[in-house]
Amino acid sequence: MIIVLRPGTTDAELEDLIGRIRSLGLDVDVSRGVKRTVVGVIGEEDKVRVMPLAAIPCVEQVMPVLKPYTLASLEFHPEPSRAAVGGVSIGGGAPFVVIAGPCAVETPEQLRGTALAVWRAGAAALRGGAFKPRTSPYSFQGLGEEGLRLLRAIGDELGMPVVTEVMDTRQVELVDKYADMLQVGARNMQNYTLLTEVGRVGKPVLLKRGMSATVKELLMSAEYILSQGNRQVVLCERGVRSFEDSVRNVLDLSAIPNIKGTSHLPVVVDPSHATGRWDLVAPMARAALAAGADGVMVEVHEHPEEALCDGPQALLPKRFAEMMGDLRRLADALGRGLAKPTRLPVSQHQNL
Ligand code: PEP
Ligand code: MN
Repeated sequence: MIIVLRPGTTDAELEDLIGRIRSLGLDVDVSRGVKRTVVGVIGEEDKVRVMPLAAIPCVEQVMPVLKPYTLASLEFHPEPSRAAVGGVSIGGGAPFVVIAGPCAVETPEQLRGTALAVWRAGAAALRGGAFKPRTSPYSFQGLGEEGLRLLRAIGDELGMPVVTEVMDTRQVELVDKYADMLQVGARNMQNYTLLTEVGRVGKPVLLKRGMSATVKELLMSAEYILSQGNRQVVLCERGVRSFEDSVRNVLDLSAIPNIKGTSHLPVVVDPSHATGRWDLVAPMARAALAAGADGVMVEVHEHPEEALCDGPQALLPKRFAEMMGDLRRLADALGRGLAKPTRLPVSQHQNL
C-alpha cells in the first residue's frame, strides 16, 4: 500500500502515522520528494486495511497495491477454475455451456415442454425459477418447493443438471436438496448473509452481477462465498442499468475479458435479462461466446405471450434451436465446442 501525504505535513504528523502502521506489526518505507512525502507500507496489506487511513488529516491518498479480493484472484489461482454442475463442467477451458429453460416453473406441462425443447436442441443444463424475485408483490412469485420438485424430476429424466435461484437464507437447505447449482440473483448479489450461507453448501453457485454493481463488487461478493469454503463460483454478467431505455439493461460484454484478466472464476452471460428482448438474445449470446465467456443462460418459453414472467425476452423453441446451431458453428470455429447434456441411454429417450 502506498500513502501519499498532503503538502505541509509536519514531522510530528508523519511520526504519528508511522507509529500507527508499526503498531499493526508492519514496516514503512518513507520517500521524501521535493513537494510530497510518500509512505510505502511493507508487509501484509490486509492488516492495514482495517485502519481508516484516509481519515487521518495528513493523508491525501491511499493506493492499495494488492486487490481487495484474494481467493477470487488470478494471483491466488493462476489457472482458470472449473465448476462441476452435475456432470457438466463450466470454465477452465471446458466446452461452452448453454443453460436454458423457462424464467419460472409455471406448470408441469409448461416445464416439460420447454425442457424437452431445450434438451433436443442440445442445451447442457436446465434452468427454471421456483422462487421469483418480482418487482411487484402481486406478480407471480413462483411455485416454491413444488417447482423445485418438478425441475428435479425432469432434470433427472433428461440427464440435465438443474439451476435455480435461492432468494433467502431460509431457502438454502431446501434448494440445495433439489438443485445442482444454486443461483444468487442480481438483487441479492450484495446480500452478504445469503452469500455466506451458500458458501457453506457443497454445490456450485451461479452469482449474478447486481444491476448497479461494479466488477470489483461482484468479485468481492464471490470472495464471500469462496471464503466459506465453497470454491465453485461461476459469475454471471446479466446487464447493468443505464440511461438507454430501448433495452431492459445494457450488456457489459467487456466484463468477460475484464474479469478474466483478474480472476480465475468462470463467467457466463445471461443475454435474456441483459436485453429484455427476445430479438437481441441470440446476437448477444454469440457475442458472449466470441468474447470468451464460458457459457450462456437463456430463457425459453413455448408461449411467451402467456408467460407468467419475462415473456418479452423468452425465445420460442424454434428460435432457440436456431441459436444453438449458430453457437455450435461458432464454438467449433473457435476450437471450443459446445457442452452436451449427460444424456441417458437412447432407449430411455425414444418415447420423449
Ligand atoms: C433470473 O435469472 O431468473 C433472474 C431473476 O435474473 P436476475 O437476478 O439477473 O434479474
Ligand atoms: Mn427471468
